[in-house]
Amino acid sequence: MASIKPHAYAELPEEFYNLQNWQGFDNPLLVIENAPLKQELGFEKIEQQELLDIFNGLSSIENLKPLSMAYAGHQFGQYVEQLGDGRGLLLGEIESSEGLIDIHLKGAGKTPYSRFGDGRAVLRSVIREYLCGEAINALSIPTSRALMIIGSDEMVIREKSETAAMLARTAKTHVRFGNFEYFHYNNKPEYVKVLADFCINNYPSYFSRTKNIYEEFFKSVVEQTACMIAQWQACGFSHGVMNTDNMSILGETFDYGPYGFMEDYFPSYICNHSDHQGRYAFKNQPYIGLWNCSALGHALSSLISEESQGEILKTYESIFQNKLAELYRKKLGFTKLRNDDALLIQGLLDIMESEKLDYTNTFRNLTQAVTEVKTNELDSDVAMSWIKSFQERHSKESISIPEKLLLMNANNPKYILRNYMAQEAIEAAENSDFSALETLIEVISSPYDGLKKFEHFSNRSPDWAKDLEISCSS
Ligand code: AMP
Ligand code: MG
Repeated sequence: MASIKPHAYAELPEEFYNLQNWQGFDNPLLVIENAPLKQELGFEKIEQQELLDIFNGLSSIENLKPLSMAYAGHQFGQYVEQLGDGRGLLLGEIESSEGLIDIHLKGAGKTPYSRFGDGRAVLRSVIREYLCGEAINALSIPTSRALMIIGSDEMVIREKSETAAMLARTAKTHVRFGNFEYFHYNNKPEYVKVLADFCINNYPSYFSRTKNIYEEFFKSVVEQTACMIAQWQACGFSHGVMNTDNMSILGETFDYGPYGFMEDYFPSYICNHSDHQGRYAFKNQPYIGLWNCSALGHALSSLISEESQGEILKTYESIFQNKLAELYRKKLGFTKLRNDDALLIQGLLDIMESEKLDYTNTFRNLTQAVTEVKTNELDSDVAMSWIKSFQERHSKESISIPEKLLLMNANNPKYILRNYMAQEAIEAAENSDFSALETLIEVISSPYDGLKKFEHFSNRSPDWAKDLEISCSS
């Protein structure tokens, strides 16, 4: 059976972290356990109660070295030196069939990096994080995932008084762009090198160890980031807080806060109510990904020349464009690459924007357009003319219609995590009813299946949810 071991990060110099214990709850309560993930990790034989006792600190694991990590970051474009794990701890790592997996506990109490914070997370925000990890994972996008939520009767103050909760989460790494920035801006190039070596050694499937290892390292981070963001754009996901301290060096979607899945197609969509300038608007994400990579490049300037950095950063755009084009091709049911596809896709997006169509449902129902002249969404004159071009394009494909429909249904989710659904599950959970949360997890875990009983989960937001404001408060 798998077990949690001290993390290799704890062997790095002491400037990298603070070794410490955490603060469990007096009256812990199981909110939800991720049974499929538990199985994947080889934890299935650990009883629910035992796992809860481990995460709440009641049943100790010998020789564990929990630690809060030191990091900095660019927040909304401004460099902030003192960040770090203010409420989360890296508990350790587990050896799974997928390689080494980090176990992190969010909301675990104060650390030296808490600044004015209370070290806690609220139930509302850990539920949002749990849900989105599952939704993004089911869309085959690399992401952190939660293993368990532990609730409590401990009250903490946000905009109002709320109950605190802890989230046990897994990820391939918790090293962020900001860990490198921390040492670079503190004039510790030797530690930038130690950290890069740590990553290269610990994540061998990501980083090659041939000559120019640091260039190769940076190249891989740039590539993973560009691919991750292309996948976000294809499914309409907006992260909301793409600060460099929320960017994983392995390109895993990470640190879910005020995220949102876009409903009506609207490129300027801003999911984070606190993002007044729209820096992290949906349409800006690809550019911000590049901006963040160049911030990382700068932090690596003791290892990589400016010229090489520039060369590597130049690859970002084509990696991003090629990946997004590939994803859109599949969404439209095409297997062949054709030059004018970009125009066809843009034509569809323009219609969605001007007619305020639901991004997810318009793509999902495009299967109707393969054989008929309109779909539930596309019935205007402009849309009919687009469908004609779409059908002409389809006539150049050699696969059969059933094959096209299969391809499209496997790449256009029927169910996405709409904010109102998360909100309903949160409100029920705040009243100790976790059934809506469990159902929603079932729905978003099979986004392409379209089970009849879940049909209503593909509805657009009801009116009450139109003004739902999601801020950074968590
Ligand atoms: P986040 O917005 O969750 O990515 O957090 C940004 C920074 O603020 C990180 O350094 C967090 O550790 C810290 N932080 C957020 N909330 C709290 C809190 N309640 N107590 C202490 N630190 C916090
Ligand atoms: Mg963060």
